[in-house]
Amino acid sequence: MKPWQKLLRWFDREGRKLPWRGTRDPYRILVSEIMLQQTQVSRVIDFYRAWMKRFPTWNALAKASNAEIIHSWAGLGYNRRGLALRDIAKHVVHDGVPKSREAWLALKGIGPYTADALATFSLHERRWPIDTNLRRVGGRLWLGKPYPQPVDDERIRKYSASFIQHSPRFYDLPQAAFDLATSICTKTPACSMCPMKDDCLAAPKFLSGKVKTPKQMVKKSIERIHHGKKFPDRIYRGRILKAVRERSAGIDIDRLGQIVDDAFDNKQDMVWLEQMVQRLVQDHLVSRSKQRVTLPR
Ligand code: SF4
Repeated sequence: MKPWQKLLRWFDREGRKLPWRGTRDPYRILVSEIMLQQTQVSRVIDFYRAWMKRFPTWNALAKASNAEIIHSWAGLGYNRRGLALRDIAKHVVHDGVPKSREAWLALKGIGPYTADALATFSLHERRWPIDTNLRRVGGRLWLGKPYPQPVDDERIRKYSASFIQHSPRFYDLPQAAFDLATSICTKTPACSMCPMKDDCLAAPKFLSGKVKTPKQMVKKSIERIHHGKKFPDRIYRGRILKAVRERSAGIDIDRLGQIVDDAFDNKQDMVWLEQMVQRLVQDHLVSRSKQRVTLPR
């Protein structure tokens, strides 16, 4: 049996049944891909279902106001993703659905990974969309590297081409590899349970027990933390947006401080708060008129 056949056989038995799978509809695929950026699958499932009910088509989404998007995205985090998705929908309604990976990539808000995913799952091109999961599986399988890095992507891509080449279900192979990456080929992989163990160059290394698990595989991004505060600014930004979202008439900025931080000090922290609100205004997530902060219309 070919390696890709083993992976698909395992996928058919063990793969996750996710609501955005089994479709070539680029809208459904894009919504799921944008939601899955920096958010776990288990959290995305309910949001995805609710979103598809509220905005079932490109057209429905393109007509949504900023305020509607911010309400619907509430709880998922990284709210700019919702606005970017709506802006892509406007573009699609105006110019049509992109017909190639390059045309997708040309749209603001679509990076190389998302363009590859759309090309694979919607256009059915033979690709291996490389995120951390597919890098880990591909780098282990074909390069024998226990902990592959972004510099390995070019080689992973090259080897993936021959892996998917002869499979009639080539578009399911990346999905199968995602599931393998999250269930078996994890940071410390369970190679003895893996359907690919006889074909994987890294398996003998792991099975020998000699591979050391690095403590930190991905460098933590450095987050801005205001002097004396418990959390990064990102958390307070989320709280500001929540406070504004929950008040249809908005809220005055001098009341916001206490709502987002129990220890808010009017003298020391006001400039910091003003700067965070200003950044939210620049991101079109809130509007400001004098002291009043509201959702954008
Ligand atoms: S054999 Fe081990 S390292 Fe290779 S793909 Fe399977 S789980 Fe990952």
